[in-house]
Amino acid sequence: MTDIVSASETSSLRGIGGDLIIMGPPGVGKGTQAKALAQEHGWVQLSTGEVFRDHIRRQTDLGRRVKGYLERGEYVPDDVTVRMVRAKLEDIPPSTRVLLDGFPRTVEQAKALDRLFGEMGRHLGGVLLLDAPREALVARLNGRALAEHRADDTPEIIANRLDVYEEQTRPVISYYEDRGLVKRVSGLGSVADVSARLREAVE
Ligand code: ADP
Repeated sequence: MTDIVSASETSSLRGIGGDLIIMGPPGVGKGTQAKALAQEHGWVQLSTGEVFRDHIRRQTDLGRRVKGYLERGEYVPDDVTVRMVRAKLEDIPPSTRVLLDGFPRTVEQAKALDRLFGEMGRHLGGVLLLDAPREALVARLNGRALAEHRADDTPEIIANRLDVYEEQTRPVISYYEDRGLVKRVSGLGSVADVSARLREAVE
């Protein structure tokens, strides 16, 4: 068992097939990279953060329900998030490869995803973990906040988002590491550097 786990952790995800998850702390550049990666390979990118922001812009019921959580840098409750992901996945044929971006973020969501995939005949091929030290993330997020005046990027909210990630999302990494699914990629350096590392990890 341990041999199998370490072998798949150190090899690339090439040839595994199935859907992929991209995970990483706030500020690591996950959204940018997920978009490029999905475009390059013709996969469908499902970004829960983008879907929530779209609902907020369109002022739907779901948008009104989740707005406060996003503004405070908190997670949307699991039941609301899972229901939204289920509805999105139901519209995608199982033969189309999906890159899940920003989901699952809690162990509860990861367990729900296992159940959903079981029901839908989908298969999880691997988890790409983009990672960087907290100091680098804080520096990037504060820089972006100054440049873009993002309402969800005050120093307090940034610290809160990083704490929530450590508390709630780190355990999700262990959940998948136990199954030998995690491929770690450094999120340090330029966008092009990180893209090149990710390309290597999936090809
Ligand atoms: P980031 O800026 O860290 O890339 P995202 O764009 O992925 O963040 O998500 C923005 C916000 O949407 C999160 O801070 C959270 O409030 C909410 N959100 C996104 N995905 C989830 C999820 N899987 N569970 C709960 N809340 C989520």
